[in-house]
Amino acid sequence: MQTITALSVPSIAIAGLEARFPVRRIFCVGQNYADHAREMGADPDRAPPFFFSKPADAVVPNGAALPFPPRTTNLHHEVELVVALGAGGADLSLDQAKEVIFGWTVGIDLTRRDLQAEAKKAGRPWDMAKGFDNSAPVGALLHGMPPSTGAITLSIDGETRQSGDLAEMIWSVPEIVANLSTYVTLAAGDLIFTGTPAGVGPILRGETVRAEIAGAEPLTVSFQP
Ligand code: MN
Repeated sequence: MQTITALSVPSIAIAGLEARFPVRRIFCVGQNYADHAREMGADPDRAPPFFFSKPADAVVPNGAALPFPPRTTNLHHEVELVVALGAGGADLSLDQAKEVIFGWTVGIDLTRRDLQAEAKKAGRPWDMAKGFDNSAPVGALLHGMPPSTGAITLSIDGETRQSGDLAEMIWSVPEIVANLSTYVTLAAGDLIFTGTPAGVGPILRGETVRAEIAGAEPLTVSFQP
């Protein structure tokens, strides 16, 4: 009989500190920039936000060299503002939603687009398209409220693929936190990926992806050949 192994809590770096931020859950918003909603064939007319999730241990640190994920021939990048909660609650007001935010950073919502397309077509869950191993690279957290304007960009091997502005978000960070808190009781350690601007596309084996939000340290991950 095998012994039972104690689990370790996944965590992410905090800029300027030795201490790390423990990750409890990862939630993600779908289609929160109008131009990306359109490129995915949806109507961006401020429909209520919708959410999906990734496992906490999908986080990947800055500088990682990742194996190319299995079961896909169409791995996509989505650069996103990520917020981290230092407290939580249910049915939060917009003011309360601001108060529970610990910090923010840049992340990449890696997506097996082929599996997502199959799931959408069949009316099946997105878990295997979105919540796979190493699917959530995130940079070091910056303490405080995230910016509501500023460049959000992604390049592959030096070539720009996504270029947007945080001001283009359909739902603001406080609105997202407040809305999500009507579905689940939020808590310290929860991360929220807040959606991606247009320009999503494939990552190939051997490529290096760099995601940036003005004010945060750039996030770079490379994929093994
Ligand atoms: Mn996304």
